[in-house]
Amino acid sequence: PEDSLYHMLKRTVKTNEKRIAVIFDEEKVTYGELFDQVNRLADSWRKLGMKKGEMLGLMLPNQTDYIVCFYAAQALGMTVVQINPNYTPRELVQIIHSAKIKRIVVSKTNLDTVLHVHGLQAIETIIVSDAPDKSEDTEELFSLERQINEGGSVSHDTQIDVKEDVAVIQYTGGTTGQMKGAMLTHYNLVANVEQSFTMYGSNMEQGKEVFLVATPLYHVYAMTAGMNLGIRIGATILLMRKFEIQRALEWIKTYRPTYFPGVPGMYTAFVMHPEVEKYGLDCLKFCSSGSAPLPVEIIKRFEALTGAVIGEGFGMSEASPTTHRNPAEGVRKIGSVGLPLPGTESRIVDDDNQELPPKCVGELIIKGPQIMKGYLNNEADTGNSLRNGWLYTGDLAMMDEDGYFYIVGRKKEMILIGGFNVYPREIENVLYEHQDVKEVAVVGIPHEEKGEVIKAFIVLREGATADVEELKGFCYRNLTRYKVPKDFEIRDALPKNTVGKLLKRSLVEEEIGNQK
Ligand code: ATP
Ligand code: MG
Repeated sequence: PEDSLYHMLKRTVKTNEKRIAVIFDEEKVTYGELFDQVNRLADSWRKLGMKKGEMLGLMLPNQTDYIVCFYAAQALGMTVVQINPNYTPRELVQIIHSAKIKRIVVSKTNLDTVLHVHGLQAIETIIVSDAPDKSEDTEELFSLERQINEGGSVSHDTQIDVKEDVAVIQYTGGTTGQMKGAMLTHYNLVANVEQSFTMYGSNMEQGKEVFLVATPLYHVYAMTAGMNLGIRIGATILLMRKFEIQRALEWIKTYRPTYFPGVPGMYTAFVMHPEVEKYGLDCLKFCSSGSAPLPVEIIKRFEALTGAVIGEGFGMSEASPTTHRNPAEGVRKIGSVGLPLPGTESRIVDDDNQELPPKCVGELIIKGPQIMKGYLNNEADTGNSLRNGWLYTGDLAMMDEDGYFYIVGRKKEMILIGGFNVYPREIENVLYEHQDVKEVAVVGIPHEEKGEVIKAFIVLREGATADVEELKGFCYRNLTRYKVPKDFEIRDALPKNTVGKLLKRSLVEEEIGNQK
């Protein structure tokens, strides 16, 4: 693709001017209005001296303004640094420092965090959305609403080198260690949109779809699969501030979305809802899932209850994010993350970098137009992850004879028991088959004599009665002895990040803390 993100929007506006682009709370904006807001804001920013190549910290929850700011920055050729609005000053300061951010957009609710950091880092421009009072702007504090209203309604023609210019810095989840800032170019992001669109085939039509977007836009999955793909095809984006099961069901009933990019926790919530059948989820032509493993049991129950279909996929921040998906047309394999997207190459290699045949477990490596340029200011990690144009994912996977991929787990999370490799996911899948289990995390805990032992953390369904003995017995009936967890712990909840990804590392750290 040769389009920059701004041109992608502009193209859509030409043929969808009157179509509703975003529905958020009671607010509805058409593509024409959205584009006008983007242009006005970019004009105000240009007048403030904001320009190509600069970093813009975007620290907003889901709201229409997020989309306007994102595309206004793209109009000027700025780089959007995605920031979780719930960060504490301590977390924010790291990002501001590492990305050298001088300009930031934040909502009134989280302004204090930015002001706190501002005391330490001297941010030049703070743009505040949802500012209730219309007090005068100060030298560094600006009202976003006013910038949108007062900017000139002009189109922008910044020259963008799509393969070189970085559109977004997407920090990785920090699940396995320190977060890293993936540099995603216009080419990377637009390519991933085109690849996904192709993969959806006749299930996705220009100017006809309604997307339900409930994961945060500051995360790469919703940014691409919700916002950018939606804009590329002129979809109406139903934007939820945050996922709430009851509200999601009501929106589905009212607006009849056709596509839902969800994450495993959301599908679990649908399945556990006592009256999910009554909301007509069969309006959804396709549901995608990614970011973490989706238990096979949940897919089966969701599809049986709703008649909608889930195509699991695989992705990561470094890959804009999607690299594999179960096709919307053709053979879908439950439990697999599907085929590489068009234009994507994918292999399984061993520790000596030799390609492995089908059915062998090794590291997943990926090549394609969606793969990042590198990590921001981090040559060491870039060199480790990108080798000869291949992205080394750090995930273990295998391929079947038909070329479908199966994620086995993270390399770092593999457990070694008496010389055998144990993959937590296999044990988790077994436990999910138990009717009383709602959620499970299996981890390896360091052990003085044995090296590692397996521990399962379990959340039970409401009203369930299973105890540790029962769960252990269930594992013995379904797994070889060495794979059965030595310890079980029943909990009310498991630690997760904002997109619902299990933080296994913190479970392990807790255990290590308890041992001392
Ligand atoms: P960090 O790299 O900082 O440790 P992270 O890898 O969790 O954090 P992301 O880029 O958001 O940050 O997540 C990508 C990872 O998510 C993949 O490498 C993989 O481990 C996991 N993942 C994504 N999709 C799936 C899936 N369908 N099944 C299993 N794991 C998945
Ligand atoms: Mg990662």
